[in-house]
Amino acid sequence: MSESLKQRLERIEEQINQACSHAGRKRNTVRLIGVTKNHDHSVVQSLIDSGVRDIGENRVQEILAKAPALHGDFELHMIGHLQTNKVAAVLPHIKWIQSIDRLRLIERIEYCSNKERRLNALVEVNTSGEKSKSGCPVDQCRQLCERVAASPVLQLKGLMTIGPLGGSENEVRGAFKLLRSLSENITDLCPRAELSMGMSSDFSWAIEEGATMIRIGTALVGGRS
Ligand SMILES: *Cc1c(COP(=O)(O)O)cnc(C)c1O
Repeated sequence: MSESLKQRLERIEEQINQACSHAGRKRNTVRLIGVTKNHDHSVVQSLIDSGVRDIGENRVQEILAKAPALHGDFELHMIGHLQTNKVAAVLPHIKWIQSIDRLRLIERIEYCSNKERRLNALVEVNTSGEKSKSGCPVDQCRQLCERVAASPVLQLKGLMTIGPLGGSENEVRGAFKLLRSLSENITDLCPRAELSMGMSSDFSWAIEEGATMIRIGTALVGGRS
């Protein structure tokens, strides 16, 4: 592991610890997802070797290129928009899908899955209402969650969102608060919902607003070309 990666990991750990103590939470209630898109296999392996147990990727092509050669104790999370025609190829490699955003995707996963292993699923919500943003509209969240909860091949684990990029602290926290309140509306389907929210620029706020998974790329592995 390069020195700089180690230093970055230490700095992020410090910030996570700080946010946790601010919020009166234990460190082990927050899972760090190392996001390695646009970084090659060796960077991902270094992260795994340094103890990061969860790896996030947002493109099927990158997962297919990197996943087969990775070794160690880790789980792969698909965090990006997933096209239905790529579902079959990616399923064998992922343990989590964080970007369930439409019925057709659920149906396609059910069609392609071998049903031997349930896939952990988070419903992605567009909490900022920006047109360009991925995720289902807020008013479809409950319905999609019901569908995932009823699926024989998916396991509903919680909700995911991307905060408004470049938003003010109030706007960003508002999006995270909204995701949290949506999770309180699905306790019958998913009693302890994961909240995947917070990236390099806003993960401390996310932890204070209740994030159980933070997805960190740039601050951990550097900028992407
Ligand atoms: C790239 C990405 C991240 C990580 O973003 P950084 O700002 O680099 O930390 C998190 N979540 C999703 C869905 C992403 O695509």
